[in-house]
Amino acid sequence: MVSQHGPLRLLTPSCRVKSIYDIDFQWLRARNIQGVISDLDNTLVPWRDYCVARELKDWFGKLHREGFRTVILTNAKPAPTIEKLASELETSLIVGARKPAVRYFRHALELLGTQPRFTCVIGDQIFTDVLGGNLVGCYTILVDRIGNREFIGTRFMRLLEKIVLSRFDERSSCPPNDP
Ligand SMILES: [Mg+2]
Repeated sequence: MVSQHGPLRLLTPSCRVKSIYDIDFQWLRARNIQGVISDLDNTLVPWRDYCVARELKDWFGKLHREGFRTVILTNAKPAPTIEKLASELETSLIVGARKPAVRYFRHALELLGTQPRFTCVIGDQIFTDVLGGNLVGCYTILVDRIGNREFIGTRFMRLLEKIVLSRFDERSSCPPNDP
């Protein structure tokens, strides 16, 4: 489990896993989470690679069957490829966000119709996904980014992330041992 104290609290995810597929649905249910706000690039798919893999489609299908509402919240600009991805995954979509600005997270919460305390934000970046999610009062799940490619500006932020993450304990799976 990661530590949560001091000014780092807002930069600290509720839990950290290797990938979305390691998120334990029991962990979500134990917290009465009803809505999931997910980042797109490097979280659900490799950077700017908007093909829908079978595994991803199945994961969204399972989330929906289990009653979770979902929305993809991305800073990426609107694009037909992204809209197609969202429609294949049968999920809501907000593009052109400016995470960590809270108004986009609030918009996502409106679409979901859930309270922040019953919602989790999933993403691969501390300073956009985790910070924004924590600012609005959601649970936050940090995943390892998919692949090595990303926006050049993001690479700089990774250096800062390393500093923050070095203070955390080792990654824990969304922990069945922490209900
Ligand atoms: Mg990302």
